[in-house]
Order: sequence, then C-alpha cells, then structure tokens
Amino acid sequence: MAGSLEPVTRMVSQLSRLPGIGQKTAQRLAYHILSMQEEDVRELAVAIYNGKKQVHYCPVCGDYTDTDPCRICADPNRDRSVICVVRDPRDVAALERMRDFNGLYHVLHGVMSPMDGVGPDDIRIKELLDRLRDHTVREVILATNPDIEGETTAAYITRLIKPIGVRVTRIAHGVPVGGELEYTDEVTLSQAFAGRREM
Ligand SMILES: [Zn+2]
Repeated sequence: MAGSLEPVTRMVSQLSRLPGIGQKTAQRLAYHILSMQEEDVRELAVAIYNGKKQVHYCPVCGDYTDTDPCRICADPNRDRSVICVVRDPRDVAALERMRDFNGLYHVLHGVMSPMDGVGPDDIRIKELLDRLRDHTVREVILATNPDIEGETTAAYITRLIKPIGVRVTRIAHGVPVGGELEYTDEVTLSQAFAGRREM
C-alpha cells in the first residue's frame, strides 16, 4: 500500500504543512501527484521552487517582487508624493485591483499587537520613516485594517509622522469593522479611499 511507503509519507507530511491542507487532503494530493506524468510533476516542483527563489521583498516598499525595486516603486508614472501604508502584500494586490490609487505603497508586514508581543520594532515602521526623510512624500495614507491592531498601529504611526510635517490620513470605514482589505470589493475600497480623513 502506497500510504505506508516512506517517500509517500514524506510527501503527505510536507503537503499537510500548507495552510488549509489537512491530513486527508494531503494524502489525496500525494496520490494525485503519484498518478501524474513525471514531466508535469517536475514542472510543478520547479514552479514552486523558482517562485520561492525569484520572488522576494522589495527593498523599498516591502511588497513581493522579482525585480529590484518592484515595478510599482520603479514606475515613473506613479505619484511619489503619496505613500499608502498596508499590513500585508495581499493588501497591495487588493488596492491595485481598485485602480484608483496611483501613489506608492509601504508594506509593514504585520501590525502592532501587544497581546501577541508584536511591537513597533517588529514591523517595518523605521523603514517607513526612512522613506520620508527626503521630503518627497507629502501624504501618508494609513490603510491598515479597522480592527484593534490596525487602529493601534495607525495611531502609533500618526504620532511619529505628524511632527515631521507630513499629512497623515486614514481610509474611511467603508471596510466592515474587523474586515480584511483583501476581501473588500473594489467599489467599497474606492469609497474608503475617497473618504479618507485627517489624523
Ligand atoms: Zn517596491
């Protein structure tokens, strides 16, 4: 029986480490992979490995990229006077789908969460301040989620940035409380952006 073979056990245990993949699904996937053409399995494995090797964080904004800097940071048509601050690369993708925003991004890679021991030094706040040094940026839009952690982070960043003389705004609460930007539709996001308020 294939399930008791060591190489299969190894496949199952690796697959089941992925989010949303339980033991049963991992087993089904492993059996499926065994039934695939060898060339297709190679392509799958190579795509995963190369994806991981080639994609990294943009040294400027922190979004995922396979170029240095990323295409958004390098785009001469983007408005360099506005930076939109988000928690996660997935939020950049959501906001880009909206198509209304033509500024730059800054990905924090997390939000402050005292309960979980995540403080300001654990997310990319210092990097954000570094980007404001040359005074090109005139507005920072805080687009962290409207939950406790997102609000705490927005308030903290506001306290640091306002004294520098940069305008700080917060996207409106078109996004449902505790809602994730990622899952918010483009129209709602667009309204949340248009209705942003001064901090
Ligand atoms: Zn970038």
